[in-house]
Amino acid sequence: MLSVPHNRLTLDEAECESVLQTVRSGHWAQGPRVRELETTLAHFAKVQHAVCVASGLAAIRLALRAFGLQSGESVLVPAYSCVALANTVLSWGARPVPVDIESANWNIDPERCLHMIAEVRPRAVIAVNTFGAPVELERIESAGIPVLEDCAHAFGLEVNAMAFGGRARAGTLSFYATKLIGAGEGGAVLTNSPEIAEVVRSERDYAEQPPDGHRLNDKMNDIEASLVLAQLQRLPAMISTREALARRYIQQLSSSPAANRVFRLPDANQKRVWYRFAIEMVHLTAATVVAALQRYGIGAALPVTDWRPPNGPSCPIADRAYRNTVSLPLYPTLTEEEQGSVVNAFLRVCEERASV
Ligand SMILES: *Cc1c(COP(=O)(O)O)cnc(C)c1O
Repeated sequence: MLSVPHNRLTLDEAECESVLQTVRSGHWAQGPRVRELETTLAHFAKVQHAVCVASGLAAIRLALRAFGLQSGESVLVPAYSCVALANTVLSWGARPVPVDIESANWNIDPERCLHMIAEVRPRAVIAVNTFGAPVELERIESAGIPVLEDCAHAFGLEVNAMAFGGRARAGTLSFYATKLIGAGEGGAVLTNSPEIAEVVRSERDYAEQPPDGHRLNDKMNDIEASLVLAQLQRLPAMISTREALARRYIQQLSSSPAANRVFRLPDANQKRVWYRFAIEMVHLTAATVVAALQRYGIGAALPVTDWRPPNGPSCPIADRAYRNTVSLPLYPTLTEEEQGSVVNAFLRVCEERASV
């Protein structure tokens, strides 16, 4: 039994009350609460249109459809990213092409991206704000290929007064249980384009349309929407608690002699959302550290699983990220005492292992 889990939900009576209201209303499928959420999300993300769907994967899949992705075409994706991305591309008979990441922040490397755009002429690029750190979009967009900003880790992010999801042709969100806002499952497409919004709105539903093998019932339901609406109320507080916790991690870990020698910490000064507190181990593998922390009752994780086929393009920074990146517990209900246990156990593991 772990004393400090890697993830924990944040909820109180507000979530229960919101769901109960929907259950009592007798309208459970996609209906008034989903419409209310779409208005709220568009306002929150400062975009013209928000369209709710069944998952983050569905949001990306349908946004790619709206970009006109066809079978046989290519889409650039970060080499270090959620396997959901590759699945969305493959679902259209297209080819996900991994692009290496930047060593500073795990985000797709804009220079490598421009190089690959010239080489493979993709239909689209998917850029992720990995772990909540803003991906640089302007360089990538300068090539004129539609960019999808995957904001699954970056709900609440602002870059130069531009909100998450509004910086690219379309943005996507996930409301999976462990994301910044959790509703069990769910997702959304954010966009300023009425055409993209209309395609997603139409394609999430199969009713009264001829069959084409693409309409896979990607609707969100009102019960999920009521959870998201309740969670949205606490988002600013959750984001600032996460930030305070991340700063405490950095403050406590950076004074250790193992800092920079055994592990590298994320940049404390970057403007971002703290979705994950990811640390890069210099020599130790992430799997070793996760197993050792487990013995101290601490739930850590390899935050991303390698989905790339063998013999793909060489991506040495992503290779290292898959091998050496550890995610420590970071969520609004993590107590100072629990965080202290994580720090102590992590530093002990670094000492034990680094001297072997
Ligand atoms: C979780 C996640 C997804 C997929 O979202 P689901 O709601 O689980 O389908 C896509 N992209 C990123 C970056 C994610 O973290």
